[in-house]
Amino acid sequence: MQLFHTIKDVQNYLKSPENLGKSIGFVPTMGALHQGHLSLIQRSKQENDLTICSIFVNPTQFNNPEDLLKYPRTLENDCLLLKQVHCDIVFAPSAEEMYPNLPALSMDFGNLEHVMEGKFRPGHFNGVGIVVSKLFNIIQPTKAYFGLKDLQQVAVISRLVRDLSYDLELIVCPTYRENDGLAMSSRNVRLSPKARLIAPKIYESLLLAKNQLSDGNTVAETKMIIENYYSNYPEFSVEYFEICDFETLESLEMRAEPTKTAICIAAFLDGVRLIDNIVF
Ligand code: AMP
Repeated sequence: MQLFHTIKDVQNYLKSPENLGKSIGFVPTMGALHQGHLSLIQRSKQENDLTICSIFVNPTQFNNPEDLLKYPRTLENDCLLLKQVHCDIVFAPSAEEMYPNLPALSMDFGNLEHVMEGKFRPGHFNGVGIVVSKLFNIIQPTKAYFGLKDLQQVAVISRLVRDLSYDLELIVCPTYRENDGLAMSSRNVRLSPKARLIAPKIYESLLLAKNQLSDGNTVAETKMIIENYYSNYPEFSVEYFEICDFETLESLEMRAEPTKTAICIAAFLDGVRLIDNIVF
């Protein structure tokens, strides 16, 4: 496995004669890798000649400086895990390498960023859009892999690819969960053992909402039931619980569409912000 820290080095390698004409699968991450990330690498390995994983904790997508500071950084261990799944290349640039100057450009994704994550993390998708564009330009992948765990990010990146005519295929991969249902996340390691025990309630609440909607309850009725549910678990502070169209992310008002509804949640537990969703 090759490890590069500079744009020049990774580009020289990708453009070397031995790699000419090879298809490139690209998995952008912020590191602190877990099996969820590795499932994207494994998918890319099946579909491409070369798989490259970037590890970069992107400062411009954090609106909360404390969250940025506390974000786990475990490059050595990440490389061990990536080796085990036969990842070909790791690109781990420094913040100075990626941003010799802070970008003057800003991106606005319209309605897609005025709800949920965008509403509660102002500027987040501007940061995501810029860093992903930079990485796409640097790597020039054939296919890029993103997890449905970050549903709104998938919607924003699909829009980015269409609006800027990136010549690549976006592959959306399912959310990988612990046995008890908790969506794998780099932030889970920050949960105390006690908080970790009740963290799966997040996924349970999504399933409960899905069942309520399938039974014919309205969106408003379902949201009430969920509010009630969380009143039994004061450890959680729910930031949003949204039932929306899977692609446009517009809130549904009445009943769920049978084919393209997403239920999305962000909640704080033990001072850790967790997000999850289900799509049906
Ligand atoms: P992150 O390092 O959190 O920015 O995530 C990097 C990529 O891995 C993103 O496309 C995420 O959506 C994806 N990812 C994170 N957690 C999971 C998971 N539990 N299952 C599947 N994909 C995930």
